[in-house]
Amino acid sequence: MQITAVEAPDHQEVVRIEDRASGLVGYIAIHSTLRGPAAGGVRMRRYAQEVDALTDALRLSRGMTYKNAAADLALGGGKAVLIADPATQKTPELLEAFGMAVYTLDGRYWTAEDMGMTPADMARIGTRTRFVAGLADGAFASGDPSPITARGIFYAIRTAAKHRLGSVDLTGRTVAVQGLGHVGHYLCGYLHQAGAKLIVTDIDSAQVARVAELYDATAVAPDAIYGVDADIFAPCAIGAILNAETIPQLKVSVVAGGANNQLATPDDGKRLHARGILYAPDYVANGGGIINVATEIQQISGREAWVAEKLTALDRTMDRILTRARTLAVSPAEVADAIVDEILQPKAA
Ligand code: NAD
Repeated sequence: MQITAVEAPDHQEVVRIEDRASGLVGYIAIHSTLRGPAAGGVRMRRYAQEVDALTDALRLSRGMTYKNAAADLALGGGKAVLIADPATQKTPELLEAFGMAVYTLDGRYWTAEDMGMTPADMARIGTRTRFVAGLADGAFASGDPSPITARGIFYAIRTAAKHRLGSVDLTGRTVAVQGLGHVGHYLCGYLHQAGAKLIVTDIDSAQVARVAELYDATAVAPDAIYGVDADIFAPCAIGAILNAETIPQLKVSVVAGGANNQLATPDDGKRLHARGILYAPDYVANGGGIINVATEIQQISGREAWVAEKLTALDRTMDRILTRARTLAVSPAEVADAIVDEILQPKAA
């Protein structure tokens, strides 16, 4: 196993990891351990060039610092990226080699599931290191974070509705949901229960059929979701879907959803603001998932009450962000980063 330090001025520690025997090649990026051990998932995917994997690790680990701080968790930000096709190249040996790499970081980085990974993979990684969360079994195993993520997004939608539509009450409001996987599906359940009307889409027609039937939702084609007549748009699929092409199509007053990195560029936050659309920053709206994972890393007993308290606090943070954005007449995306920068400032002694 070769572990080589990589120079990255904005990050605390970045290593390139390579194990010739198993074919492991990747990066572990620790952006910050200022608030606690760096926590963030491991992503496995094919990259056109190795430098793209490093860029992804740097960007995503920084994002985790912001997400964890916004959720007021005693965790820093980190991320691992492995260059491999999860369908054909994910072997037990490769996962174990990655576990060894995590082990050598001695708890400065905790890994968990991200794209291309499953709880079974976490268990395999866990044969080599204890710094792994997202396990299905064990005393503090936190399991699937999606229901908690969806609950947090539901709170964010209500709070954004209070700011822009005058009430948290979603009865009769129309919400357009993009992506009906783990998160989107649970979110539709919450919204339906709250009396909202649903317009939904997914590239997987089986997901659409299931949600349409369960929650009396109207289905539209994937590209049509941007232009539907609705009050709120909840992106719960992929990133970068708020961009120069889609934002002009939106007819909603609020965008609040769970997908990571919804804004294609920082300018798209401003673009939404200029159109008078209130944007609930994604890494605050979807912080429920990492709150759930934190119960495993920090071995929290009385987990349900702890999660409920953290979700309520996260909702208050969203409220503060939207309030300050209104006062300053700027995009909530800018305010969220500024508020987290304040949280991250080391306190004067
Ligand atoms: P998932 O893979 O279970 O579901 C994603 C769904 O989006 C799938 O059904 C897929 O078919 C659909 N989809 C993909 N591209 C689409 C498109 N162009 N148009 C419409 N639908 C499309 O993933 P998930 O766990 O539900 O996560 C959804 C998003 O939320 C991701 O961006 C993820 O990073 C983010 N997120 C998830 C969690 C969590 O707890 N699972 C936590 C934080 C953030």
